[in-house]
Amino acid sequence: MSDQTRVLVTGAGGFIGHHLVTFLKERGYWVRGVDIKEPEFSTTDADEFELLDLRRWDNCLQATREIDQVYALAADMGGMGFISANHSQILHNNALINLHTAEASRMNKVKRYLYTSSACIYPEYLQTEAEVTPLKEEDAYPAQPQDAYGWEKLITEKICEYYHLDHGFDTKIVRFHNIFGPLGTWEGGREKAPAAMCRKVAYAKLTKNPTVEIWGDGEQTRSFCYIDDCVTGIYKLLNSDYNQPLNLGQDYLISINDLADLVADIAGYQIEKKHIDGPQGVRGRNSNNDRLRDVLGWEPAITLRKGLESTYAWIEDQVRAQLASQKQAA
Ligand code: NAD
Repeated sequence: MSDQTRVLVTGAGGFIGHHLVTFLKERGYWVRGVDIKEPEFSTTDADEFELLDLRRWDNCLQATREIDQVYALAADMGGMGFISANHSQILHNNALINLHTAEASRMNKVKRYLYTSSACIYPEYLQTEAEVTPLKEEDAYPAQPQDAYGWEKLITEKICEYYHLDHGFDTKIVRFHNIFGPLGTWEGGREKAPAAMCRKVAYAKLTKNPTVEIWGDGEQTRSFCYIDDCVTGIYKLLNSDYNQPLNLGQDYLISINDLADLVADIAGYQIEKKHIDGPQGVRGRNSNNDRLRDVLGWEPAITLRKGLESTYAWIEDQVRAQLASQKQAA
């Protein structure tokens, strides 16, 4: 074995994992990617990529062999539409993945372990207004996440905290707030709001039908963090000595209606918003970044507009290609 640090990225076939593999390779790490599927939109930069189902204990042992650092990203997940309709599946699959990955990593003497939690762990009762008070890490309790997805994330946070306490296992916990960017799921039901909005606006523009459907009244609010800031942040956290949960997101709050207008402006196309019934999640959610700044001396810096410009351009290309192949098939 060389003296390069050996890193495992689980969920390396997914959106954030795929970008993280590239980021780590650019910094000289030896990287193993693991997932149940290959990356969908471009080939992996990992030194080794293994197709493994991490719900299985034997596969977790295999994935974590001869590894120094683990970024645990694998999860059965998606946007609001998916996580509000698949509670038991999500809880079952993600609990198995996370229990087995953490224990196999400890047994295989992994030195550092980063778990990717979510802003979905925060209690529903603190997110009832669109003009929400930004959420601090200590707001997590008393717990009342909206969905099973959030409950499972909280349990795995606790596993990480107790492994650290009981075994001195060096675990880190990051709570992402809506990460977006190119090379992420943009259709099919698992896509998240920024990708869905870029797709809807791109379809409207390319088919010259200005109607864009918005779930609910569109006044629900969120903050969105660009993928490059996300991978920088988790890299800094893994290499820090901080072992408590930490927010990682932007703290710029925007309504879904304003997000639609921003994407339309980037597309250079005038849309007509049509509000329809659909899952909206909590009414408002924003990240309080005080602790992030204290712990890492850093915070996300890429503006929503700049991030959306590259995301929209990539999704418009996907939509254009899809429309062309549909036309050819017709
Ligand atoms: P993603 O769905 O693109 O990636 C997750 C990957 O995990 C997928 O490629 C999937 O195939 C893989 N996976 C699922 N089941 C598996 C299994 N049994 N064995 C092996 N691999 C399996 O999601 P993402 O946006 O890249 O998210 C990465 C992590 O960050 C997840 O844990 C997610 O919960 C968390 N997170 C993401 C966001 C966000 O905005 N994207 C927000 C909060 C938390």
